[in-house]
Amino acid sequence: MSIVTRFAPSPTGHLHIGGARTAIFSWLFARHYKGQFVLRIEDTDTERSTQEYTDSILASMGWLGLEWQGEPVRQSERFALYQQYVQKLLDSGHAYWCDCSPEEVERMREEARAKGEKPKYNGKCRTRGLAPAGNRAVRLRVPDSGVVAFDDMIKGRIEFSVDELDDMVLQRGGGAATYNMAVVVDDVEMKISHVIRGDDHVNNTPKQILIYQALGVTPPAFGHVPMILGPDKQKLSKRHGAKAVIDYQSDGLLPEALVNYLVRLGWSHGDQEIFSMDELVQFFDGKNLNSSPASFDPEKLLWVNAQHLRAKDPAQIFSLLLPYLEKLGLGGFDHELAQKAIHLYQPRAESLDQMAAQMLPLLCPASQLVYDQSAVEKSLSAEGKAHVRALAEAFEGLSVFDRDSVQQAIHGYVEKNNIKFKAVGPALRVAILGSTGGPDLSDIIFLLGPTSTKARLERAVSL
Ligand code: GLU
Repeated sequence: MSIVTRFAPSPTGHLHIGGARTAIFSWLFARHYKGQFVLRIEDTDTERSTQEYTDSILASMGWLGLEWQGEPVRQSERFALYQQYVQKLLDSGHAYWCDCSPEEVERMREEARAKGEKPKYNGKCRTRGLAPAGNRAVRLRVPDSGVVAFDDMIKGRIEFSVDELDDMVLQRGGGAATYNMAVVVDDVEMKISHVIRGDDHVNNTPKQILIYQALGVTPPAFGHVPMILGPDKQKLSKRHGAKAVIDYQSDGLLPEALVNYLVRLGWSHGDQEIFSMDELVQFFDGKNLNSSPASFDPEKLLWVNAQHLRAKDPAQIFSLLLPYLEKLGLGGFDHELAQKAIHLYQPRAESLDQMAAQMLPLLCPASQLVYDQSAVEKSLSAEGKAHVRALAEAFEGLSVFDRDSVQQAIHGYVEKNNIKFKAVGPALRVAILGSTGGPDLSDIIFLLGPTSTKARLERAVSL
C-alpha cells in the first residue's frame, strides 16, 4: 500500500503547538515509509477562515521543515465535488432528502430525551421519498443497528454502537456539504491511507466510517493523537507559556529543536531525548505513541533547544543569529568578531534570542557598553580600578596579543602581587563586559583585540 498522510488545518488562527505536533507525526510517518504528505486547508467556515492565517500556517510548516507534496487543497473550492458525492449516495439509496426544520428536529430530540433515549433525529423523512429542492437537506440513511469499530493506531480498538448515531446531515439546505461529508470526500479523493489527527475528532470518526461504507470505499487507518495539556493537566493555554509556532520562531528556537521536543511529547524511542530530523524519520514508524495526554513543559523545550544549539556548526548558527543580532539596534557591528565568538556562547545560550542578547556587550563599541550598576559598585571599587589600570598596562606591554599571552599576563599579575584571582577577575570582567557573566575572559579579551580592550578598560576606570 502506498502511504499518504495529510494535515488538514482550519485557517482560523496561527499554527499552535498541538496542531504542529499532529502535522509532525503525519509528516514523519509519511517520510518513514517513503510515502506522500499532503495538505488540505479546511476553510469552509468563511467567517473565521482568513488568507492571512492560511499563509501563516504554511509559513510555520515551511519553517519547521515539514515540506508537503503538491499544491494544498482548499475545501472552499470543492463544493461541486462534494455535491457529486452526495448525489452518488442519493442515487444508491444511502441518502435521502429531508425538509424538517431545525425547530422540528429540536422537538424530536426533546421527545427522545423525555423518553430517556439518546436525543436524535427520528428518521421522519427516510421513507417520504422527497424530491430534491434547494432548501432541503440531504441525510445519510444510517443502519438501524450494529457497531462501528476501528483499530486506532494510537488508542487501540474503538467501538461505537450505531444506536448512538442518527441520520446525519450530509448536505445542508442551500447545498453546502457538512464537515464530515467534506472530510470523507477529500480523504477519498486525496487517496489518504492514514488519517492522523487530534483526538478531539474521535467522535467524528464513526460518522465518517459510515459515510465510507455507504460510498463502498474502504476507510483509511486512523490515529487520534491525545491533547497536549499544561503542566497542571488543564487544557493548554498561553498562561502555561504555550505559544504559536511563529512566536517560537521569533523567540529564537531552532525548528529542529521544536520538532524534537513536540515529537517526544507523546512518542518515545528508548530513553533517547535528542534526535536529529534524520533520526526521527528513521525511527518514527507510528508505534510507541503514547495514548494518554502529554504535559507541556516550556523549560524542557528550552533545554532541548540548548542541546541542538550546542550541536550545530557555528557558521550555520551565525547566519541564523544575524537577524537577532540586527534586532539589537547596534546599527552595524563587527561580523567577523561575532562569527569568531559564537563557539564561546553556544554552550551558554538556550535560544538564538538569548545568544544575541548575551553577545551584545561584546559586539557594542566601548562607548555604548551598558554597566550593571550593582556589579560596578561591588567590583569596580578603588582597588578594583587599580587592578584594571595595572592590567591595562600589562596588556599594552604584550608583544603578541593572543589568548595565551593575555592569560599569562593576568596570571602573572596575580602571582606577582600575591593576590587571589578572585580579587582581580570580577573587576576585569565588569570592565570588559559590563557585568559579571559571560565566557572565559582571556578568550573575550583576545577576540576584542588590544584597541577595543584598551578603550573598555579606560572607560571602566573613569566610571
Ligand atoms: N480541520 C480539522 C482541525 O483543524 C482537522 C480535521 C481532520 O484532520 O480530519 O482540527
